[in-house]
Amino acid sequence: MDLYEYQGRALFARHGVPVLDGGVATTPQEAVELAERLGDRVVVKAQVKVGGRGKAGGVKLADTAAEAQTHATNILGMDIKGHTVGKVMLTVTADIDSEYYFSYLLDRANRTFLCIASTEGGMEIEEVAKTAPEKVVKTPIDAGVGVTPEIAGQIADQAGFPAELREQLVDVFVKLWDAFVAEDATLVEVNPLVRTPEGKILALDAKVTLDENADFRHAEHAEFEDKSAVDPLEQRAGEAGLNYVKLDGQVGVIGNGAGLVMSTLDVVAYAGEKHGGVKPANFLDIGGGASASVMANGLEVVLSDPQVRSVFVNVFGGITACDEVANGIIGALQMLADRGEDVDKPLVVRLDGNNAEVGRKILADANHPLVTEVDTMDAAADKAAELANKEA
Ligand code: GDP
Ligand code: MN
Repeated sequence: MDLYEYQGRALFARHGVPVLDGGVATTPQEAVELAERLGDRVVVKAQVKVGGRGKAGGVKLADTAAEAQTHATNILGMDIKGHTVGKVMLTVTADIDSEYYFSYLLDRANRTFLCIASTEGGMEIEEVAKTAPEKVVKTPIDAGVGVTPEIAGQIADQAGFPAELREQLVDVFVKLWDAFVAEDATLVEVNPLVRTPEGKILALDAKVTLDENADFRHAEHAEFEDKSAVDPLEQRAGEAGLNYVKLDGQVGVIGNGAGLVMSTLDVVAYAGEKHGGVKPANFLDIGGGASASVMANGLEVVLSDPQVRSVFVNVFGGITACDEVANGIIGALQMLADRGEDVDKPLVVRLDGNNAEVGRKILADANHPLVTEVDTMDAAADKAAELANKEA
């Protein structure tokens, strides 16, 4: 889960990383009140989960509270790389002498953690890596050892940070590592980490990604969840324990196994080109089990998407054989009818793999008015797309 800057900044503060006093506002009125509380000069910053806000005009300095209000008015509602700004963060302004770059991240390719440090901060690190690669210092971090003051000192020296800042930097690097570990982050990035004219080190930006696999250890991270940004259908699916992603199309997709579902999306999109440009409406992997109740929950979520006009159930029988899946589908339709859901969208079912023949026979015998059985994946996708186009 990616955090907003203000949330990352709160985590930094919790671990003693030096940040400036500030708060968030969702309206210009809130912004002006916050600016008055913070004192004379403030920075108004768009809170969106993308970088390059500065360049996009989403970071503005204000000399007065009135100016802060003007900036907040302009920035709230602004579109930055497809993200609408719903909140601004205001902080006390720092004077900047130098801008540095510093991050810890999970380096999957090398199966380790990595520290990236550079004295060339403020701009995107990818740019620096291109134009001045010698200025980007990468240090693998051993998970068992972590970042000791000694290691932090070596990083500061290797990256060429000024010697007079060494003590402060060591302290900040160690605290950032503490935050990285304690919060189960996969990324902690500070760009810029600045030196003020008085020689103080401050974290002026905070980009944090938390490892969702560790959520069970962090009840307190629930507050970071952005409920407003979660699609209501995805929310419901999540509560039902389903692997569902809402897409912008008309053909509902249910399959078992992420790989199969991904390729189903491709095949449906391809078939849709011949049928009025219909597209897959969602990704839904119901996993290996595919029991009637899981199928019912899946169907319920897919069918409650008002955009959906047909559903393609694509199952490759493995450990769960096709006859069980076929019974699951018929059982699920019955279950939904019993729950009072009005199921009226056509279902195209393709069964293959373990016990496919028996499964197909079960569907044929059930002779459900909404269910069409098609033997191959391509032909089934074509049928589902055709039905979605017809139902329009
Ligand atoms: P990003 O562009 O999305 O990475 O947003 P940042 O938070 O990094 O802000 C962009 C730039 O705005 C920084 O690199 C700074 O140059 C500038 N900036 C941010 N906060 C302050 C501040 O308190 N004082 C000054 N003078 N500049 C700031
Ligand atoms: Mn930044």
